[in-house]
Amino acid sequence: MLLRPLLDRALPRRLLGSLLLLPALAQANALLQPSPLPLQYPPFNAIADADFAPALSAGMAVQRREVAAIVANPAAPSFENTMEALERSGRLLNRALTVLSSLNGADSNPERQRLQREFAPLLAQHRDAIALNPGLFQRIDALHRQREQLRLNPEQRRLLERRHADLLRAGAQLPPAAQARLRAINVELSRLGADFNQKVLAEVNASALTVATREELAGLSEAQIDALRQSDGRYRLPLQNTSGQPLLAQLSHRPTRERLMQASLSRNARGDGNDTRELISQVLRLRAERAALLGHAHHADFTLETETAGSTATVNALLAQLAPAAVASAKKEAAALQAQLEKDHPGATLQAWDWAYYAEKERAQAYGYDESQLRPYLELNSVLERGVFEAAKRLYGLSFKRRPDLPVYHPDVQAWEVLGPNGKTQALLLVDLYARPSKRGGAWANAYVGQSHLLGTRPVVGNHMNIPKPPAGQPTLLTWDEVNTLFHEFGHNLHTMLSDVRYPSQAGTAVPRDYVEFPSQVNEMWQTWPSILANYARHHQTGEPMPQALLDKIAAAKRFNQGFATTEYLAATLIDQHLHQLKADQIPNASALMDTEAQVMKAHGFDTVPVPPRYRTPYFSHIMGGYAAGYYAYLWSEVLDANTVEWIEQHGGLNRTTGERMKRFLLARGGTEDPMVLFQQLVGHEPKLGPYLNRRGLVTAQP
Ligand SMILES: [Zn+2]
Repeated sequence: MLLRPLLDRALPRRLLGSLLLLPALAQANALLQPSPLPLQYPPFNAIADADFAPALSAGMAVQRREVAAIVANPAAPSFENTMEALERSGRLLNRALTVLSSLNGADSNPERQRLQREFAPLLAQHRDAIALNPGLFQRIDALHRQREQLRLNPEQRRLLERRHADLLRAGAQLPPAAQARLRAINVELSRLGADFNQKVLAEVNASALTVATREELAGLSEAQIDALRQSDGRYRLPLQNTSGQPLLAQLSHRPTRERLMQASLSRNARGDGNDTRELISQVLRLRAERAALLGHAHHADFTLETETAGSTATVNALLAQLAPAAVASAKKEAAALQAQLEKDHPGATLQAWDWAYYAEKERAQAYGYDESQLRPYLELNSVLERGVFEAAKRLYGLSFKRRPDLPVYHPDVQAWEVLGPNGKTQALLLVDLYARPSKRGGAWANAYVGQSHLLGTRPVVGNHMNIPKPPAGQPTLLTWDEVNTLFHEFGHNLHTMLSDVRYPSQAGTAVPRDYVEFPSQVNEMWQTWPSILANYARHHQTGEPMPQALLDKIAAAKRFNQGFATTEYLAATLIDQHLHQLKADQIPNASALMDTEAQVMKAHGFDTVPVPPRYRTPYFSHIMGGYAAGYYAYLWSEVLDANTVEWIEQHGGLNRTTGERMKRFLLARGGTEDPMVLFQQLVGHEPKLGPYLNRRGLVTAQP
């Protein structure tokens, strides 16, 4: 997943003088000036929570003045005095907001949450004040009409066209009454969004399962059980943000599995203060109303207009084609698991909470290994440095150096310097991998500072996961999935770090949502690339490489359980599309939301397998955040990814030539070119479904 800053424009140094309106604060508030640290790395040790509110307020005020100056410029609009000036604006706001929202993701506290709630509507108003500024639109519209005569290079041309389209999509040409309603909707949505995130975080902590005895935790290792033990002698099983919970694969006590699964599935729908159903219903209705104001049939239609998939028809057709294939594949898998279950519980029927546990048994029988045999070879530091970093070294010539001198916001965070092939500093990287109650669930990458030649900035990026922290002195041994996630999120980091563009709004991951997961998914391929796998997968005690026989078994099991994985993902995708393809008067009320979800599952045959959606609506953070009507993006990106992996395998694999090609047609280019043009240049043809189906072991009527 990728977390995008809400604003990514910037403020020129010359305008910092205007901050003299706050002379006393400027002394003490570390956010009010550019960081003195390398690459403007945030001075976390100097930033107090009390600094955010004045910095955000000053940041909005400065950007309003910057935009007013652009509009008031007596000179005729030019690319420089309008587009570039806008690209330079908002730097202070961006700096303050990036740190606040990053910390609210990675290390929240009540004060930071309060600030996020307080400023969300103000920031929505601020964005609309720019997007709906008639003078600004007139200048950009004038440039847009003259675009053939302006002698723009392709990047400039695209910047102008995209900005113009974005303003139209924000409502720049609507009548004043409609614009006023739009502003009100955006404020309300931002408020509800901040509320939703905080409820989901509170609920994932509140829903942790407590059990009284060690017997109920049978199947876990002694060390795992000790790590779950609380001061009152009971055991606390924390939840991860997905419906499925990793501990289900190990717990042999069936009632504990059931309780854990139910605790997960019932999140945010228990009728208490963390219940999100009413909130979601409101969000959906407001989004549908906004889409209608902007001339679209529904929110999905509005969203997909600017995505590479292009239309709901394309997405619906793809989902309709894949859903039956995924369900059929999951049914086949379920039959094998049912047989495993009946050995332990004669006459019982396979339930959602049984799946992961018996899948491990099935894997052990069919392929001769289970997850627990892998983990001693998947020590975190080895995976990071000898796996993830090593692949980036062989592809892109990057090298990595610890920077313990740079301040961090939590003792578990590591700062790294990333050096380019010329030995010069390319970027700084914050690695923040352990779970804690102050962190939101899941894994994500973000940027504190984006790359831009216009602003002279180089990237500062973050990589976040939720790996359970072992007791002091014990090594961190990862699951195979966690290794995959680390490669994935680092793929987002590469997209930001290798960016080589002039304009900040086109840097790195500034691409359509259904394209942004493409480079990160391609980077997952190096997890199993033989020379990389052999390099990082070493026994944490003996240093022995993972035995070849075990490596062969992993390779053979590549498609194992893919029916389940595809089904749980498609289920969530279909819910997302369904809810966002409704008109305002069709949106279910809070009390009907779960029935609607069940109907969608039934309509596509998903009720015939015990596979819950990867996220249920009440805790589906993706669709309340930036992936609304866009959760299909992982699938679309994986189609592109599978085509690219096939190309790389056929054209030399892991080497600097491949890396240079990836950089040239993908990673360095950001949003400077039509993404599908770049894709075709990279692999030499249009995307085909075949490599994706093959990877997942799916058979459809029309491949
Ligand atoms: Zn991602």
